[in-house]
Amino acid sequence: MTSVPEIFAANVFNDDVMRDKLPKDVYKTLCKTIEDGADLDKSVANVVAGAMKDWAVEQGATHFTHWFQPLTGITAEKHDSFISPTSSCHVIMEFSGKELIKGETDASSFPSGGLRATFEARGYTAWDPTSYAFVKDGSLYIPTVFCSYGGEALDKKTPLLHSMEVVSDQAIRILRLFGNTSAKRVIPSAGAEQEYFIVDKDTFSKREDLIFCGRTLFGANPPKGQEMDDHYFGTIKPRIAAFMKELDEELWKLGVLSKTKHNEAAPAQHELAPIYTSANIATDHNQLIMEIMRKVADKHGLVALLHEKPFAGVNGSGKHNNWSLGTDKGENLLNPGKTPHDNAQFLLFLVAVIKAVDEYQDLLRISVASAGNDHRLGAGEAPPAIVSMFIGDELEAILAAIENGENYLAAQKQRMETGVHVLPTFTKDTTDRNRTSPFAFTGNKFEFRMLGSSQSISDPNVVLNTIVAEELRQFADELEGAADFNKALNELLKREVKNHKRIIYNGNCYSDEWKAEAARRGLHNYATTVEALPHFVDEENVKLFTSHKVFCEAEMHSRLEILLETYSKTINIEARTFVDMMKKQIIPAICEYSSHLAKDIAVKKKVGDFIDATPETELLTKISNLNKELFEKGKVLEYNVKNVPTDLDELGKALYFRKDIFEIMQEMRVIIDEIEPHIPKTIWPVPTYSDLLFF
Ligand code: ADP
Ligand code: MG
Repeated sequence: MTSVPEIFAANVFNDDVMRDKLPKDVYKTLCKTIEDGADLDKSVANVVAGAMKDWAVEQGATHFTHWFQPLTGITAEKHDSFISPTSSCHVIMEFSGKELIKGETDASSFPSGGLRATFEARGYTAWDPTSYAFVKDGSLYIPTVFCSYGGEALDKKTPLLHSMEVVSDQAIRILRLFGNTSAKRVIPSAGAEQEYFIVDKDTFSKREDLIFCGRTLFGANPPKGQEMDDHYFGTIKPRIAAFMKELDEELWKLGVLSKTKHNEAAPAQHELAPIYTSANIATDHNQLIMEIMRKVADKHGLVALLHEKPFAGVNGSGKHNNWSLGTDKGENLLNPGKTPHDNAQFLLFLVAVIKAVDEYQDLLRISVASAGNDHRLGAGEAPPAIVSMFIGDELEAILAAIENGENYLAAQKQRMETGVHVLPTFTKDTTDRNRTSPFAFTGNKFEFRMLGSSQSISDPNVVLNTIVAEELRQFADELEGAADFNKALNELLKREVKNHKRIIYNGNCYSDEWKAEAARRGLHNYATTVEALPHFVDEENVKLFTSHKVFCEAEMHSRLEILLETYSKTINIEARTFVDMMKKQIIPAICEYSSHLAKDIAVKKKVGDFIDATPETELLTKISNLNKELFEKGKVLEYNVKNVPTDLDELGKALYFRKDIFEIMQEMRVIIDEIEPHIPKTIWPVPTYSDLLFF
């Protein structure tokens, strides 16, 4: 077997390959483009394209594709072959700089939220040289952005790249204030821990709800769930281990730094975590992780479920977005450091994040809102829908000392106000972890834990980068003009800690006590997607994104439309699947068993009164009553699905789908789950939770 270092990034046109394959001057120009965003002229682009094509052909590629991330949240690709005829019977393999840099595609089938008039079907893709091209399934994949004819972004990559630039510019201003003259850029980093379920493909194929919705719409709890805590970090079964091994290898070939794998809390649940990288590459890589995971599972006769809540009663799946800021020289700005001076800089960045999370709680909440994630947030397993921060006891004590103008350590002789250079030294968060916090400081980075397992990590990172950029901008404006930097810094820290400490909570975020306390503190609690989403276009949020040019106002409205529309469509598919399964499978099965029971009772009665038919009679009564209730609710559900009011806007529609469809489905599932344990396995028409989770 080839060694891991040998296979790692074997299919990636990365820096090593570029240096090797490109003429020196071309390589240098390209690096300048990658690092500073300088324009690439046509002749250079042609040389790069030629080298890329030759390399890709060596790897067995015959096609190339611009690879982009439309607002569906998944990736899109359209393949063109490299062939170019030289005569009627000959072709050569060709790829020009123009084809590398720009692609034209029919955008009309991708969601645009009203940005693209129907007569303007054109969309453009443009090369993102900051994320490496790679070869997969016989094609050269070129990461690109995707925009409309009018230049509006129609994808998840464009705003991410903008937000990364914006936070870099503002962070550099802060670094200059601390005397750092060497850093040229600051790069937001991300490491996304991915949770998922694995089920057997044959079993999966017997459930329409899993096929169409990615989750079970009903299913009674198996006799055993996750209460024994025997799955978390448990030994990995051979069939799963074989899948994981191949998954790692495929990811490594694509340069994805897959690092950790383990069993998660729920039965059949697992996690994969890569080593962090730039937010842009991490976003691309997370898309690859989800895609390759599905493909490799399929090869092994398995299915990878990426839905946030495939099964009720056991944990759902999330994604932890670990995030930090680092300079191009490798300094992690959220590392507390060893000296007081570093600590002052660290504290300023820390306070910027605290202020950002407090002021833009709603945007963070919105960035993770989806129909699937509604099943997790606030359901007592994942973080609640309330955004708060955990920073650990030590940092909290330091911030309290700053706020009160006191010394942090008793040993510390001087007082804080005399200047930042007397700030105490501390190394890192020394307290225990808080698993319940939605946004936790974990030593040298923040871990945002509210993301749903199936979502792109782009949106949360766009929000994080932009909100932190805004706070850093305010801080830089204030401090750059200060006559006495140290004094101004102390005042600023003190003021902002006081103003925003309400967002910090180190207790149990799953508790009802916290809900009440958060309400007292005036924190938002948007329990559902439909409650959260409309706030995306609140005045302060529009001001934030437009002032930093991450989105224009029209783009924000279009994104909101798409999010609402996606919500309604998701519930619509679930409801139609529900009605279908109910009519064709569940009710017939219940009727079948009822009729068995009725026949048994009749037979017994015929034999004589001395034979007791009480068990059958009680069972029949119970099942028939529940079935009637189910049937009546089913009629309402079916009616509501067929008669969606046509005069509603997207928000009205989403609210309708939540209230008049989703909530009825939830009530119906409770009834089905109550009936299921009474029906013999030979009659129950679909695989049960036991079959799925403990195969
Ligand atoms: P846990 O499960 O305890 O949260 P893991 O080790 O599974 O921890 O995951 C931690 C994640 O955080 C990894 O993906 C890691 O690469 C990432 N990470 C570490 N440092 C940084 C950083 N500076 N910026 C972004 N992500 C980071
Ligand atoms: Mg984690």
